Parts: sequence; C-alpha cells; structure tokens
Amino acid sequence: MFIGHFAAGLGAKAIQPKVSLGTLFIASQFIDLLWPFLLQLGVERVHIDPGNTTVTPLDFAHYPISHSLVTTVGWGLLLGIIYRILRSDTRGAILVGLLVVSHWFLDLIVHRPDLPLYPGDAPLMGFGLWNSLTGTLIIEGLLFVGGIYLYIRTTIPKNKQGRFGFWGLIGFLCIVYAGNLTGPPPPNESILAWVGHLQWLIVAWGYWVDHSRQVKTRSF
Ligand SMILES: [Zn+2]
Repeated sequence: MFIGHFAAGLGAKAIQPKVSLGTLFIASQFIDLLWPFLLQLGVERVHIDPGNTTVTPLDFAHYPISHSLVTTVGWGLLLGIIYRILRSDTRGAILVGLLVVSHWFLDLIVHRPDLPLYPGDAPLMGFGLWNSLTGTLIIEGLLFVGGIYLYIRTTIPKNKQGRFGFWGLIGFLCIVYAGNLTGPPPPNESILAWVGHLQWLIVAWGYWVDHSRQVKTRSF
C-alpha cells in the first residue's frame, strides 16, 4: 500500500486539525520511512521478485523490526510520547500513535502473508489484496479520495501555495503510485532503499502545504 497510508494521514487532519499534515504523514508512513534504514543496516531484507504478487515485485523476506505488529505498536507509543513531549498535546499524541499502528493494518489488507505478529518465529499475516490489481486500485483509490475530502473539508488555503501546493502534492503522489504500478521493478535492493528515503520529500511537502492552509472555522 502506498497512497492508502498518505490517505490515512490526510484524513486524520479532520480528527485533530492542530497536528500538521507533515507530522501526520510521518506517523502514517513511519514504518516505511524506517524500513530503508534497516535494509541498509542489513537488519531487514527484501528481494526483487517480479510477480511476487500482481501489484508488487517485492518479496518482503524479513522485516520484523519495522513491520511486526508488536514493534509497530511500540513505534506508535514512541512517536506518540515524543509528540506529547514536543507539543504538550495529548489528543494529538494519541492520534499520532494510532496512525503509526494504522499502517500495519492497512498493509495487512494488501500484503500476502509476510507481516509478522512479533519478531522471532511468529505467524505471518496478510490478506493478499495485492494479487488483484483492480481490487487494490478500488480500495486504495477510495481511501485516497476519502482522505483528500476530509483534508479539504477541514482546511482552506491561505494563499496560492496552499491551493496549488496541495493539489501538486496530490498529483505527485498519484504519479509516484502510477510509476510503482506500471514501471519496471527497481534494479536492485540498494537502489530501492535509497529511493525509499525520498519519501521524506513528501513529508516536507506535507509540512509546507499545511503551513499555507488554515483550519476552517465551522459555521454550525
Ligand atoms: Zn509498510
């Protein structure tokens, strides 16, 4: 899942509008932001394996630190605590923590059974929606449209950056997603990890867009 995680970040703005979209993206995508570092450290492993599922050419061979349920809950607690310390906002902190955990459950829908429950000799989970391109597009597309709707219902642009920056971000996410679905597989695991770090650009874009928009005051 790719845009589905960003959809979760966008939609979460409606729950706690004080939290910046950049922070919401860090939370909803946290374990995928962590994963490239762990690949480069040799702690986790992925193999390029075209046809592994219909949608992804990746075989997620070993990723218990970033992508087990138990460690994901731990990462959620950690990020929630850090956010609470930095912002003194308990509700925002709870949302940040839950968003981190949401990633595992969204991945659960699409991955084949490769998500461990905990590090070690654990059962592997995954409902395998990635075996259906149509099913994946419908579910992720609906999530994405829902996330965009909630974000623009919650905020209005303060200036041109707030409007065009936002739609530029949405267009960029769509292009990256289409590239993932239709482009050739990554040439090797090392390049895959480096490209993974580029997701921080989307996080930075989220902070910039959010700064150029303000929370709507409701008229009811
Ligand atoms: Zn993931």
